[in-house]
Amino acid sequence: MTTELLFREDAYLKTASARVLAVDERGIELDRTIFYPLGGGQVGDTGALLRANGERIPITDTRKGEAIDSVLHLPAPAMQRPEPGETVTLEIDWERRYKLMRLHTALHVMSCVVVAPVTGGNIAPEKARLDFDIDMSLLDAERIERETNAMIGRGIETETVWITDEELDARPELVKTMSVQPPRGTGRVRLLRIPGIDLQPCGGTHVRNIAEIGAIRVLKIRSEGRRNRRVEIALAS
Ligand SMILES: [Zn+2]
Repeated sequence: MTTELLFREDAYLKTASARVLAVDERGIELDRTIFYPLGGGQVGDTGALLRANGERIPITDTRKGEAIDSVLHLPAPAMQRPEPGETVTLEIDWERRYKLMRLHTALHVMSCVVVAPVTGGNIAPEKARLDFDIDMSLLDAERIERETNAMIGRGIETETVWITDEELDARPELVKTMSVQPPRGTGRVRLLRIPGIDLQPCGGTHVRNIAEIGAIRVLKIRSEGRRNRRVEIALAS
């Protein structure tokens, strides 16, 4: 079953209402959602579903289902489950999600300071990282922090752009991340554009203006194998 992904058009939605499509041991499927499912290195959202009778069902994680654009909301164990057809109110843990949006957007900016193929990445609420195929001697924590924060300070609005699979095939240089190919199958691919800084396929959640990131700190840089150099960052405040 397909879920309308409301966070794609508006990552700032904190609540919404939705109809329950299916409930089984894998999770709860809804006709629409503001919960981002684990993917592209960004962890799944947490929050709650509120039933009309006032019951609150904590959601501890969100995952992709088997079908394209299907989303599984994972309820806390031993909680009541809603019934298919029921209308529920969705609430995401906004404080946690907003940190993820700020850190995620910060990685886009940092990927333009460290110019090298990206071999992996991860975004959690307290820290985020990118892995680069680059020589260790070219990575200087102080420089990365300073230049990333200088770009953030330009306060640029971010934009979501959609292109067709064919347009993406014609521009392979857009794909920086070697380990994660952009999601395909719907005929179109979503890009994040930070004008003058970055343009790359990404299905994640981002802030509207990079100034919202504030500033970042580089926590550490370490070698993670022959071709992997990991740069880990956190929000400065
Ligand atoms: Zn992104």
